[in-house]
Amino acid sequence: MNKILVIGAGGVGSVVVHKMAQLSEVFGEITLASRRQFKCDEIAASVKARTGVTIHTAQVDADDTDATAALIEKLGVTLLVNVALPYQDLTLMDACLKTGINYLDTANYEPRDEAKFEYHWQWAYQQRFEEAGLMALLGSGFDPGVTNVYTAHAKKHLLDRIDTLDILDCNGGDHGQHFATNFNPEINIREVTADVRHWENGDWVTTPALSNKQAFDFPVVGEKNMYQMYHEELESLSKHLPEIKRARFWMTFGDAYITHLQVLQNIGMTRIDPVIYEGKEIIPLQFLKAVLPDPSDLGKTTKGKTCIGNIMTGEKDGEAKTVYVYNICDHEDCFAEVGSQAISYTTGVPAMIGAALMLTGKWSGKGVFNMEQMDPDPFMDMLNEHGLPWQVTELDKPLDF
Ligand code: NDP
Repeated sequence: MNKILVIGAGGVGSVVVHKMAQLSEVFGEITLASRRQFKCDEIAASVKARTGVTIHTAQVDADDTDATAALIEKLGVTLLVNVALPYQDLTLMDACLKTGINYLDTANYEPRDEAKFEYHWQWAYQQRFEEAGLMALLGSGFDPGVTNVYTAHAKKHLLDRIDTLDILDCNGGDHGQHFATNFNPEINIREVTADVRHWENGDWVTTPALSNKQAFDFPVVGEKNMYQMYHEELESLSKHLPEIKRARFWMTFGDAYITHLQVLQNIGMTRIDPVIYEGKEIIPLQFLKAVLPDPSDLGKTTKGKTCIGNIMTGEKDGEAKTVYVYNICDHEDCFAEVGSQAISYTTGVPAMIGAALMLTGKWSGKGVFNMEQMDPDPFMDMLNEHGLPWQVTELDKPLDF
């Protein structure tokens, strides 16, 4: 029987274990561990009530490699699913190497004092995982994750050559709060306020945060304003598919979100360097996180749908072609199924699928892998079977901005 350790009892971790419990023939014995065990216990109670499956729980500090390795050994697990924070990626990869087990995450490593969103720290583990005969699968969420697999699917089935890639992440949902982020506020705000970079003709082009705004008419959701951003899958996709001439990422934000964010930024509340407050060092963004709504509580009030997908232009059989591969996900349906909003759901389901493909041996390898390096077919099939069905449409012309 497979034994799995999931670390991180937040919004995403909750979805991951609910979805794993629905597939208990693959996942066998599941343990959820996090900094605070009561959060794991609350999630385990919900899984029990919804599916009848028992999730074991534990307390762990994922910044501590030795403590995590001791827990892995005590439980006898063969796969660690990291849905804690990007800060823990390296300590958890070290714990996997130390104990000889496989690793999966949904976000690339970030040092606490720099918002860099770069893969080089984790790619540097390639040789150690390869020599140990172990697999590390990076970025098995939606974006990164499904968006990487959509690109691999397009390359395998829809286009002979991909020239341009635009990843469009639209949240058409409304949570009824003045200001809240859909996933961990600290990570979300670091991403949105970072310089924008996109890949063009073999190099990175940098522009200021939130400086390129475009309106786009999304399927089902309708017209929304979206802003160009940097997102980590651009780095791995431009490396693994070097034929791509231009790769960009876009995310929708409402006017109220942008106004709040600009005020918070202007007054220094999004800073990630320490300031002294009453004789103690605090990081303003971490303090802000403590007063903002917890994303894992937004499910109860969020209504509307998300539409996340890739628009890719290129050539098929000598003809120019533009394809749009996307998923529509309904916040209220997710809440009814697993008690979470769609952002946690769209991240947690792909993490479960990546883990299932590793455990069943459909995805295997020795070393550190991004999602586009794997065969997209079994992953795309499982998306349809486990709550994130995808659609493909052909567009008459590429994006004209
Ligand atoms: P949350 O903040 O809701 O959850 C993170 C959890 O990790 C919390 O329970 C937290 O504990 C726990 N944690 C933090 N530090 C430690 C530690 N040192 N030891 C043990 N546990 C710890 O975040 P989300 O669930 O929203 O996001 C989880 C991950 O998913 C993040 O890395 C995020 O970047 C990623 N993500 C990826 C997406 C994708 O599409 N690829 C989209 C959205 C998110 P505590 O409760 O005590 O704070």
